Amino acid sequence: MTLDRREFLGAAAALPGTAALPPAPAAERDVYRELGVRPLVNAAGTYTTLSASLLPREVVEAMDSASRKYVNLVELQQAVGRRISALLGCEAALVTSGAAAALTLGTAACVAGADRERIRRLPDTAGMRNEVLIQKSHRYGYDRAVRNVGVRLVEVETREDVERAAAGGRVAMMLFYNRHDPLGAIKVEEFALLGKRLAIPTLNDAAADVPPASNLSRFTKMGYDLVAFSGGKGLRGPQCAGLLLGRKDLVEAAALHNNPHTDTIGRACKAAKEEIVGMWAALERYLKLDHDAVWKDWERRCHAVAALVGEVPGVKTETFVPPIANAVPHLRVTWDEAARGLRPADVMRLLRESEPRIELRPEAVSGVEVSVWTLEPGEEEVVGRRLRDVLRKP
Ligand SMILES: *Cc1c(COP(=O)(O)O)cnc(C)c1O
Repeated sequence: MTLDRREFLGAAAALPGTAALPPAPAAERDVYRELGVRPLVNAAGTYTTLSASLLPREVVEAMDSASRKYVNLVELQQAVGRRISALLGCEAALVTSGAAAALTLGTAACVAGADRERIRRLPDTAGMRNEVLIQKSHRYGYDRAVRNVGVRLVEVETREDVERAAAGGRVAMMLFYNRHDPLGAIKVEEFALLGKRLAIPTLNDAAADVPPASNLSRFTKMGYDLVAFSGGKGLRGPQCAGLLLGRKDLVEAAALHNNPHTDTIGRACKAAKEEIVGMWAALERYLKLDHDAVWKDWERRCHAVAALVGEVPGVKTETFVPPIANAVPHLRVTWDEAARGLRPADVMRLLRESEPRIELRPEAVSGVEVSVWTLEPGEEEVVGRRLRDVLRKP
C-alpha cells in the first residue's frame, strides 16, 4: 500500500500531537540544495551527528517570535526557568545549550557555588572540593563535560567505596549515568539516597531518557539534586538546548557560571533567546501530546516497515523497545547473512547511497534496526520499500 501526499497529510492531521506541516510554499528556499548538502531520511534515531530531531511548527513559530525583539537575556532565562519548573514540578530550571552544557554547569555549581572569585578561577579547583564520584560501569564519553570543570573523577563500585571516598572530605558531587543503571551495583534510587545521607549533591544524566514524559519529574522527585536532559532529542526542541533541573540554590549558581557572564566556564555554552524560548515551547508542546496515540503510531510505522520487508522470503522482523534511553518502538530486521551474502553493514551502506539517502540505527544488536520515531509521516513506506528491494536483490 502506498499513500499519496494528500493521504499522508490527512493521516498525519488525524493523529493528535503530530499536526502536519502545511504544504511548503512553491517558492520556499531550499538551503541544503544551495549548499550541496544531501539531506537524509532519519531511520537512525536522535543522533547528534544526524542533527538529532526536527522542530515542530509551533516551536519554530515561538523561536521566530523570540527573534523579533531585544530582551535582557538574564531576565529571559529567569522567566523561562520559572515556567519550566512550574510545568515539571521541580524547584528550579535553567535552559542550557544542551545536556552536555547542563553537566558542565551543574558540576561547576557543585564545585564553586555562587562564589565570584571561584567562578572566575575554574577550571583551577585548588582549595575547592574537586572530586566527583562515579560508578566504574557508568564511565562514558559525556563525563568529559564534567571533567571540563577541573575535577577528578573517582571511580567507585560499592556503597562502602562511596562512604570511604566521601570521608576524605573532597567530594563535590556524585554523577549517575541513567542509561547505565542496570550495569552498576548502586541503583538509581539508592544513589540519590546515598547522596542525601552523605550531604553530597547528586546529578543524574538522563539526556536521552524522554519519553517517557514522566522521567522529566521522576528523578528530581526521587531526590536527585540536579538532572540533565537534552532539548533536541525526544523533546524536539532546538538542538542547541537542554535542561538543568533541580535544587534552587544549585540551579541559580549554575546560571552564574553560564553565558552571558564573561570569564566563566559556561560562557562558551551560549543558548540564545530563540533557543531558550524554543526549549520552553517544545516542552509545553511535548507535555500536551497524547502520548498513547503517538506510541500507537510508532507501532503502526514499525508494522508498515515489517509488512514491506516481510515480502522477502527468509527475512524476519521484530519490534523492540530499548529499556532506557530512546525507549520507543524500533524494528529489527534479520536474515541469513551467509546464505544471502549480505551483511548489515552492506545494507546500511546501500541505503545511505540511495536517493533519498536513508540512515539506519548505528548501534544495532543484530541485523539492521529501524528507528521510526524520527521519521516524517509517510517515510516509513520509503524506508520499508527501499529496505525490501535491497534485501531482495543485493
Ligand atoms: C546526547 C547526550 C548528551 C549530550 O546532549 P546534548 O544535548 O547534545 O548536549 C549527554 N549525555 C547523554 C547520555 C546523551 O545521550
